[in-house]
Amino acid sequence: MHFPTQSFFVAGLSRSGVAAAEYLLNKGAKQVYLYDDVASDGVKAAQEALCRAGAVAVSAADAEKYISACDALVLSPGIPVDHPLPVAFRKAGKAIVGEAELGARALRGPVVAVTGTNGKTTTVSLLEHIFQTAGCKAVACGNVGTPITACLDRLGEDGVAVAEISSFQLETLTSLRPHVAVFLNLSEDHLDRHYTMENYIYLKFRMLKNSAESEYVVLNRDDPILCTFAEKTKAKTVWFSVSGRVDGAYLRDDAFYYGEERVCALSDFSPEGEHNRANALAAICAAKIMGIDTAAVAAGLKSFRGIRHRLEKIGAVGGVTFIDDSKATNVDSALKAIAAVRGECVLILGGKDKGEAYGPLFEALRGSDVVHTVLCGDNAFLLLNAAVEKGYTKLTLCRPFDMAVRIAYLLARPGQSILLSPASSGFDQFRNYEERGDRFAQLMHELEREAAARQPAEDAREEDRG
Ligand code: ADP
Repeated sequence: MHFPTQSFFVAGLSRSGVAAAEYLLNKGAKQVYLYDDVASDGVKAAQEALCRAGAVAVSAADAEKYISACDALVLSPGIPVDHPLPVAFRKAGKAIVGEAELGARALRGPVVAVTGTNGKTTTVSLLEHIFQTAGCKAVACGNVGTPITACLDRLGEDGVAVAEISSFQLETLTSLRPHVAVFLNLSEDHLDRHYTMENYIYLKFRMLKNSAESEYVVLNRDDPILCTFAEKTKAKTVWFSVSGRVDGAYLRDDAFYYGEERVCALSDFSPEGEHNRANALAAICAAKIMGIDTAAVAAGLKSFRGIRHRLEKIGAVGGVTFIDDSKATNVDSALKAIAAVRGECVLILGGKDKGEAYGPLFEALRGSDVVHTVLCGDNAFLLLNAAVEKGYTKLTLCRPFDMAVRIAYLLARPGQSILLSPASSGFDQFRNYEERGDRFAQLMHELEREAAARQPAEDAREEDRG
């Protein structure tokens, strides 16, 4: 790209859109136009700052008039490629790229890219931690929250970009050539956007599009769809598996192994659940391929404390433990959480529907330690239908999230947990899953205060009875 002779239309001023616009302005792009159809305070503030730096804001009504003046559309991952705006750009023969594509073209050092339906952020954060523990310059970037274009200076010529790549980003990403491409798992998700599972799988496979014999792919041997990727790529395959020995990383004698080498005991790794062991195995493969020695990998695994809103024990009130797994925004991730939580719990499910089948949830709940399920959010009745079809009846339905948490607390007995693992996104009542998880924590604190306020009265009653 020769920026000084090119004009760009940046659509969608989320974190990555803002980073793309800043990057283009820094590169001296001829013109940077900005457009967002959401007029939130955050968007307005970002737009004003970018306009002060030389960008031009465009209104929704005028957007299409700028197509001919632009060379490329920089599309936010939040806007689907079949939205009228990208469709109009494509018809006019213009390039459509994402912020990640701009970043991929500019990266100089090695890239470890991580994708999959679930576990990306956990694995990327763990890998960054392992690299840093080993004294190696590495930055977690991409979908994890820090756009790639915003990390280029920190990465320099030799830093390892540990890039989380989502299916939304893959729609507009063509130049990425990871030295190590990690695929964690593939299950139904985002079908409201990608329509079919075939299309979703096709998009994920695009991460290997540019890989040659000199590159590596890390694949989950336990995932039947991912097993087929090994035959379709030129990259060398390294496997991981939680269920058997493979040519790569696996579990044996209560320990993580890579080839013949024991890395560390399973009990040295604190995040709970088999799914987190799978994430750890994937990270071990990538770190070993990148030349990190086994002792340093083990040190990284031992000191990793997990990340927020993923099976995070946030506290306890009256003997009831609150577990925030708000990031479980699809069925498979909630299934993993249900399997991982130890002891009896009350589960909170529901939020915005993404077109998934909920039946498997209620099948799994029947044989689980979940004593009751509270359904809430926009898809509460869809969930109820699936529950009824599967004959699952330990249910309470209420739409508002706050009430669902209070009901869950009323139902939970001391020694049990409340697990927020909604299997749905939070966009029905919140800005995102973080806000939903934070509200869960606020409500826990409210319940704690209410319990503390009730205590003196209860003590007095006890005394009267005594
Ligand atoms: P992503 O970035 O892919 O959304 P996260 O690491 O943020 O994944 O985890 C999101 C949710 O998915 C977590 O709350 C957890 O319950 C679940 N999860 C994490 N790792 C896995 C995995 N390997 N397989 C299935 N579910 C997982």
